[in-house]
Amino acid sequence: MVRFLLQIRAKLQSLTNLQPQGGCKDPDFTYLFKLKCEGCGELSEKEAGVRLNLGKRKGAPDLVRKCKFCEREGSVRMMPEHNRPLTQTGVYCPLMMFDCKGYEPVDFVFSGGWKVESVAGTTFDNVDLSKGKFAEYDERGERPVTISNLHATFTVLRPGYTCRW
Ligand SMILES: [Zn+2]
Repeated sequence: MVRFLLQIRAKLQSLTNLQPQGGCKDPDFTYLFKLKCEGCGELSEKEAGVRLNLGKRKGAPDLVRKCKFCEREGSVRMMPEHNRPLTQTGVYCPLMMFDCKGYEPVDFVFSGGWKVESVAGTTFDNVDLSKGKFAEYDERGERPVTISNLHATFTVLRPGYTCRW
């Protein structure tokens, strides 16, 4: 098992608390990313969609799949204990931790299902970030609000790491 921390950063203009619509433990939020097989090195053609399965038994994976090429089975388990909403521009923020067996997660893709708040207190629901940006006018704050410069990265957490979140 290797743990990967998915972190995101963005430029937030008059916005804060960017997070999945239902919060960090949203079971309806789909995490899209490619899987690289640790056995043969093959990268999946399409992104896999992984959701937090709240009904599973403790410690069970949220995704199990077999590599198309070497037929090795791998799994991904989500660990939603270490996440928090993105509040600051340009600073990486933990979105989700993944416990992976046989696979390495790569190339996270931003899609729909986000929630964000303006600094004036307006909530924007079901924000779609698949175009890589978001732009609205906040009536309450009387100013434009935008999300841009989206980046995501998977970081390997070495055994014995200290969780700072
Ligand atoms: Zn393989």
